[in-house]
Amino acid sequence: MKKLIIAIDGPSGAGKGTVARTLSEHLGYRHVDTGAMYRAVAWKATQEGLPLDNEDAVAALSRRADIVVEGGIVSIDGHDVSRTIRTPEMDKAAAAVARLPRVRETLVARQRTLGEGGGVVMEGRDIGTVVFPQADVKIYLDASEEERARRRLNDAAHTGGKAGQAAVAESIAARDRSDKTRTASPLTLAADAEYIDTTGMPIEQVVQTVLEAVQRKLLHP
Ligand code: C5P
Repeated sequence: MKKLIIAIDGPSGAGKGTVARTLSEHLGYRHVDTGAMYRAVAWKATQEGLPLDNEDAVAALSRRADIVVEGGIVSIDGHDVSRTIRTPEMDKAAAAVARLPRVRETLVARQRTLGEGGGVVMEGRDIGTVVFPQADVKIYLDASEEERARRRLNDAAHTGGKAGQAAVAESIAARDRSDKTRTASPLTLAADAEYIDTTGMPIEQVVQTVLEAVQRKLLHP
C-alpha cells in the first residue's frame, strides 16, 4: 500500500499535536512535529544569548545544529529539550525565529528530507502550502480562540505557565497574528486542504474525521 504524506496545519492549540500523534500510531507512520524544530532553534539561540531578530546568527545556528524530533523526544546538539521548549517564553521565541526566511529555508529542507519517502504525518503551519504542496492528504485544523486557550491551559506538556485563561488567550492571539502576517510562509489555508473546525468536537471525533480522509485517499489515490 502506498505510504502517504499527510500534512496537518493550523494555528496553536487547534489539536494538531494530539491528532498527528494518534494518527501516526494508528497508521504506523512517522510523526514529525515541525513546531518543535523552530522551538529547539529558539531555545539554543536564547542559550547562546543571540538576539532573535539577528537573521545571520540564528540562521547559521540552525544550519549547524543537530536537531532530532523523534518519538516525542526533541533534542538539539545532544540536549534533550523536550520539556524546556514548551514554555510561554519559548512560544514567543519560536514564533520570532520562525519569521526569519533563512531559518525557514534550512528547517524546510530538513523537513522535506524527513518526509520525502512518505509514511509520515507532519504537523506545522506551512506543510501543505510550502514543505509538501504535493502532500497526499492536507488537513487544516482550527478552533475558536477561547477553545484553543482552554486546551492550551489543560495541556500537561506545556509547562511553566501560571497564567490564567485570559493571558493564555492573549498570547495565542499574538502568536496567530505573528504566524499569519509574517512575509515568509505565513499560516494560510491551502486551497486543496480539508478545513475542520474542531470547536466543541471531542478529539476522538477529530481523529476519526481525519482518518476517513486518509482512508478515502488510500482507496482512491
Ligand atoms: O506548533 P508549535 O506551537 O509548537 O510551533 C511553534 C512556532 O513555530 C509557531 O508559533 C510558529 O511560529 C512556528 N512554526 C512555523 N512553521 C511550522 C511550525 C511551527 O512557523 N511549520
